[in-house]
Amino acid sequence: MIETDYLIVGAGTTGLAFADQLFTDTDATMTIVDRRSMCGGHWADSYPFVELHQPASFYGVGSALLGSGRKITEGLNAGMMALASGTEVLAHLQHCLHERLLPSGRVQYLPLHEVTDDRRVRSLVSGKETDVSVGKKFVNASFLTNAIPKTHKPAYGVAPEVNVTTPNEAPYEVVNYKNYVVVGAGKTGIDTVLFLLKAGVTQEQITWIMPRDSWLIDRATTQPTDEFFMDTIGSFVAQLEAAAAATDGDDFALRAEASGSWIRIDPDVKPTMFHAATCTRKETALLRTISHIIRGQRVSSIDPETIHLAEGSVPMPKDALVIDCTASAISKKDSVPIFNGDTITCQVLRFPLISFSAQMIAHLEATQPNDAEKNRFATPCPLPDTPEENLMTVFVGLMNQGQWRQSEEISQFLLESRLNPFSSMIANSDNTIPERAALMERLQTSIMPAFMNLQALVSRSA
Ligand SMILES: Cc1cc2nc3c(=O)[nH]c(=O)nc-3n(C[C@H](O)[C@H](O)[C@H](O)COP(=O)(O)OP(=O)(O)OC[C@H]3O[C@@H](n4cnc5c(N)ncnc54)[C@H](O)[C@@H]3O)c2cc1C
Repeated sequence: MIETDYLIVGAGTTGLAFADQLFTDTDATMTIVDRRSMCGGHWADSYPFVELHQPASFYGVGSALLGSGRKITEGLNAGMMALASGTEVLAHLQHCLHERLLPSGRVQYLPLHEVTDDRRVRSLVSGKETDVSVGKKFVNASFLTNAIPKTHKPAYGVAPEVNVTTPNEAPYEVVNYKNYVVVGAGKTGIDTVLFLLKAGVTQEQITWIMPRDSWLIDRATTQPTDEFFMDTIGSFVAQLEAAAAATDGDDFALRAEASGSWIRIDPDVKPTMFHAATCTRKETALLRTISHIIRGQRVSSIDPETIHLAEGSVPMPKDALVIDCTASAISKKDSVPIFNGDTITCQVLRFPLISFSAQMIAHLEATQPNDAEKNRFATPCPLPDTPEENLMTVFVGLMNQGQWRQSEEISQFLLESRLNPFSSMIANSDNTIPERAALMERLQTSIMPAFMNLQALVSRSA
């Protein structure tokens, strides 16, 4: 029998950001269980060229910095704050578990174990099941688990003669081919195309199958330092104004684009996907050089001569490697109450701040008296797939923000959390600078209209 205050399912970013904050706020014991053989969740199986698409300084666990914090001076991200590679993210999470949590004696970690539906712990090696006596809460930190290329099976058929691979294996295989077919246009597809181009593949060698175009966030508007105040907070304010005036999700997207916050690969094609994938304008310009893009169609099968699409077909390039990037990094599930009796189901409180959301949920667990109070500050944001769904995501994020502002203790927590740098950017802004004062004025006057209009739009679509 395992005895523990908290049984945490999942040792990815969510599980560890939660455990790290609970460790700070309480003296509780925790047992963290994961099917994988190491902590880090999907980062443990990421493709070698993966990077965060947001600055590293506000990702990971709250108790330690991630990344160098330097400003990048070279390449397509020149001028932006450092991102982190998948390996750096993994090292950061491992350091938290192995150097901070486990040595305390309060935390136990069970790799290659799973939690069963009846909440027992089963070893994936021996099959042995152990009862768990949970003193306080069962924490589902795997609710948002997403599909990744390495563990995902493409939904289309591939003839045995066709060479298909994942972005994980692609770096080792690209040297053997003359052409490349990238299937998928989300964050992984974009990363893969950029990887190929940076490696010296020419745009003529790439065929990009893009079932849906994606709206992208301009990385310049996600920078968390004072130097970028006008870009980052300016973008937030512009999106509030867009939310106040929008007639629907597409209209919001066009307004976000007009203000410089969102970008698209082809200005003549309307994107229908929004997963908060983030790029610089230089990266987007490079993506635009790909001329052989097959849009608006899903692949149904690939044989050595032909790529069969839902409607029609195109010739399969000769001597080609297919790189499958169709795993969705967004998990589509209906939201459930975060605090519900003996169960906490970690979800996002402000999209796309996944680490911060897990940290905040742990802090609420430690500091608020009962589920009703905890849930008052923690309405789950559904993860968006489309610009229309994003309206609800923004609405719920604003609602949570409004609730947090009503609590002095939470407001202080927001200012101190490295995982949410935007509150302190605003609080510490020098508003004697006229353009900032004007921006703050716009912020104040747009919040309520944005909230009201979003409420009307989401209730209409509901
Ligand atoms: C390529 C890529 C780039 C990304 N970049 C960013 C970014 O820049 N910023 C950002 O905020 N987000 C980013 N994300 C989103 C990212 O998924 C989240 O930031 C975060 O890593 C999700 O962590 P998680 O712990 O919720 O899920 P996971 O990493 O999937 O971890 C869940 C864990 O739970 C375990 N598990 C599930 N069920 C059980 C069970 N029954 N018993 C035991 N263990 C179980 C799984 O084995 C898994 O290890 C990115 C995602 C991808 C794919």
